[in-house]
Amino acid sequence: MSIEIRNLNKTFGTFPAVRDVSLKIETGQLVALLGPSGSGKSTLLRMIAGLEKPDNSDLIQPEVLFEGVPVGHKPVRKRGVGFVFQHYSLFRHMTVFENVAFGLRVRPGKVRPARGEIDKKVRTLLELIQLQSLAGRYPHQLSGGQRQRVALARALAVEPQVLLLDEPFGALDAQVRVDLRTWLRKLHNEINVTSVFVTHDQEEALEIADRVIIMNKGRIEQDGTPYDVFHAPETPFVMGFIGNVN
Ligand code: ADP
Ligand code: MG
Repeated sequence: MSIEIRNLNKTFGTFPAVRDVSLKIETGQLVALLGPSGSGKSTLLRMIAGLEKPDNSDLIQPEVLFEGVPVGHKPVRKRGVGFVFQHYSLFRHMTVFENVAFGLRVRPGKVRPARGEIDKKVRTLLELIQLQSLAGRYPHQLSGGQRQRVALARALAVEPQVLLLDEPFGALDAQVRVDLRTWLRKLHNEINVTSVFVTHDQEEALEIADRVIIMNKGRIEQDGTPYDVFHAPETPFVMGFIGNVN
């Protein structure tokens, strides 16, 4: 599902966190959002998700469109979005299986599938994240990387057409991050989903993204292929930002 946003602004008090962002993302793209801390990445993602309302006035009419259809009025649960956050907490008292099944049991507006059907679906998802053998474990019995994979499977359970990831691997150690990003790229090639992915890790963006968007002080500084952004920075800011660990 393609995503288009127009005139998104978000002011907290008098502080402009996101300023006049418009962009189009084609179906199937994996887009990385990069930028220093506080540049508005999470706020932008939350507005796409419907978790945050963009500023609206006579002068500024914000729009979020999925597949050309405005979703501004739609509640989050009806947008068909899957989320994964850095500290996505799994339900502690539920097994891996139950955590993944949860999203299938409570699908608003949909008939609850039969139990056999849920079982089958969860098995398929566990296979996809390669955690079949850990279905009966509880979150505290998993490594950080395994937990994030379960969080991803839970997000995928509702068959989202848009996947929004906010520093999903940020809390993990380097080797696990490398494994997970490779896996995310592979998954993206296998299922038809459009993803926006916030990361702190430039290498991660370069490695897996189809497109990289660099934000600074709430605005888009540069938007292009990883190659363009890293080899042909268009502004002094991007030049200084790329290659620097922030
Ligand atoms: P990033 O994800 O790029 O680090 P954020 O989108 O989280 O940036 O935040 C952008 C700016 O907006 C920051 O200065 C942050 O302090 C501010 N901000 C974010 N959310 C809120 C909020 N709910 N209330 C007030 N200020 C906020
Ligand atoms: Mg953030």
